[in-house]
Amino acid sequence: MKFSETVGQHSVISKLVNSVDKGRISHAQLFFAKEGSGALPLALAYIQYIACPNRADGDSCGECNTCKKLSSFSHPDLHFAFPIISSTKALDSDYFIAQWRAIAKVSTYFSPTDWKEKIGAEKKQLNIPVKESDRISKKLSLKSYEGGYKFMVIWLAEYMKAPTANKLLKLLEEPPKKTLIILITNNFENILGTILSRTQLVKLNIPQDEEIADYLVANYGINSASAGDAARLADGNVSQAVHIAKNENPDASNLETFSSLMRFAYKKDIVGAINWADKLHSCGREELKHFLTYSLHIVRQCIVGNYAGAEVRKLNESENDFAAKFAPFINHSNVVQVYEHLSEAESDIARNGSAKIILLDMAIQLFKLVNPKR
Ligand SMILES: [Zn+2]
Repeated sequence: MKFSETVGQHSVISKLVNSVDKGRISHAQLFFAKEGSGALPLALAYIQYIACPNRADGDSCGECNTCKKLSSFSHPDLHFAFPIISSTKALDSDYFIAQWRAIAKVSTYFSPTDWKEKIGAEKKQLNIPVKESDRISKKLSLKSYEGGYKFMVIWLAEYMKAPTANKLLKLLEEPPKKTLIILITNNFENILGTILSRTQLVKLNIPQDEEIADYLVANYGINSASAGDAARLADGNVSQAVHIAKNENPDASNLETFSSLMRFAYKKDIVGAINWADKLHSCGREELKHFLTYSLHIVRQCIVGNYAGAEVRKLNESENDFAAKFAPFINHSNVVQVYEHLSEAESDIARNGSAKIILLDMAIQLFKLVNPKR
């Protein structure tokens, strides 16, 4: 990526550009940034600036072969090391490289949490194991494929424990010629002194709200008011702003919609249900279908929980909380019908029926089923 595709960091960029233009590139650098400030994209833009044969006006060209290979993560001299699941001692970053490329190709502003999700390690500890040091040394000892610099980006270097870091000290002190090692950290305090003394520190700024908003408008086609809201909520964290702006967690609002319907059903609040259907029917058809599919999933998981125990439900924390309260109302006498009414509504909506009537009809049917005695 180009510097122009990153968020903010203007003073840092001009220092980096200056060092390249004067031929003074430190071979080992530590990029320190608050989470979400964009140290990885900045490191990648810096690397591209160093490698691009057509760099001009303080940026890479973005169009030559080198730039294209770098931005598609297929350049043979660009290497990465990053935290992996710590229980897998035999593994190193190579094992997860496909996932790494996949997440970075979508956006280089991903968070440590996004990464954990990507490799299925939500509840696991991550680390950069000792084995990784050997891998890093080996990668950098190879001849450069393209004849230029070799680059190693060590993402979240704070995940290196002393044994891993110690094995890298010699490499950081005397790397092979035309090698650049960039360590990235969000947690300066956890970087060992021995690493600090061998690297040049590059401290990033926290991006301004306006800079984040501009980035969202340019890259995600969001209107400037929503972009501004997302930037404010994210408090300087670009990855978070992207999540908010894209509303990447529609299931949270689907859960809210479904649970309010169930509340109305339980209270037999017909006015509430009419308002509910009124508000919901203005969503797009795709969104409504998604909502009904989601509701079916919740009902199914409640049934599973009723018969096999709450621990086998495939639900997140807030869904589980809801299911614990809601599951008692779904039992052998009504479950098939609840399920049928939801599926019927789903197919009626898919067939372009009147969403308002379908939703209201479904709500009334569920009223009778969920709480027949009241
Ligand atoms: Zn180029």
